[in-house]
Amino acid sequence: MDAYHPSLRLDLDGDALVANWRWLARQSGPAACGAAIKADGYGLGARAVLDRLAKAGCRDFFVSNWAEAAALMPLADGLSLSVFHGIGESDIAIASTVAARPVLNSAAQIACWQAHFPGRACDVMIDTGMNRLGVPLGSMGDIDLASLTIDTVMSHLACADEDRAMNAGQRDRFAAVRAGVPAARASLANSAGICLGSAYAFDLTRPGLALYGGVPRREAAGHIARVAHPAMQIIQLRDVLAGESVGYGATFTADRDMRIAIVHAGYADGLIRALAPHLVLNVGGAQCRVLGRISMDLIAIAAPESAREGDWAELDYDLPSLAAATPLNQYELLTGLGARWERRWR
Ligand SMILES: *Cc1c(COP(=O)(O)O)cnc(C)c1O
Repeated sequence: MDAYHPSLRLDLDGDALVANWRWLARQSGPAACGAAIKADGYGLGARAVLDRLAKAGCRDFFVSNWAEAAALMPLADGLSLSVFHGIGESDIAIASTVAARPVLNSAAQIACWQAHFPGRACDVMIDTGMNRLGVPLGSMGDIDLASLTIDTVMSHLACADEDRAMNAGQRDRFAAVRAGVPAARASLANSAGICLGSAYAFDLTRPGLALYGGVPRREAAGHIARVAHPAMQIIQLRDVLAGESVGYGATFTADRDMRIAIVHAGYADGLIRALAPHLVLNVGGAQCRVLGRISMDLIAIAAPESAREGDWAELDYDLPSLAAATPLNQYELLTGLGARWERRWR
């Protein structure tokens, strides 16, 4: 992360990250527990996440594309990296220099891999009902798996975060098709899938969200710790008189004389305007609310008398409750934060 500004701080709790992975690993039973670190580790920093989890014993990592994989090279001995989007003609050059496996998603991707990298290890994704990526169940008979060196055969659950009959249906279809695939390992569960129980774990699980403090299902509540703590600096204090308004659209009018603080962060930093009524900022122990509209780079908050310019306002960034109250889901709340936050691991 290069373009950060020291007035926006994203404090990242490395112990919480590792504790979350350990809980997910325990819930995975005898299956190995990997880590999805796509989209730069859900916005927190893929390299830092990989280093911390590898030290804790995690061996299997997943990114979306080859550029993300290349950014993690060289990989330490014993680590495995898979590229969810597979391979296309435009990836051949980079794939020849990057030690990762594609997750092959179609007959065309399989043919491409066989043509350019015969014998090199790969993974295969089978679509058991989500209709996103993966070889459709109906075309399994048309593809030549025997000539591939398959490390992991995978599928992905469409609604593991909900109690739906589709979950068991996908699991059973995956178990049936997996039996005929010459792969060393099978993998189905994301964070929510791990919470569905050991029948979903197979040989390898692939959590993302819950590593970073997201709570995918009620079973994880109380076990998953917050990792990301945004804080922003007060760049100006002002006194607003009763009857005066604050910010764009003059949507907030003071009903008394009050002290307000302007902090450096806004919707360009992922704090979209719809979050405004739900954000609570801690300034020196006082709980402060947003006043009026969030701007691109600035937010006005009620400030305690003790506040000083340069003080920090810590945002109570509780992913499950913010997701429940706003249009953003927990994934968007993490990945939307943007490049201006200084990521600081502790
Ligand atoms: C992103 C992703 C995961 C991780 O999902 P979470 O819901 O974040 O745990 C696992 N598998 C695939 C194929 C993914 O795309």
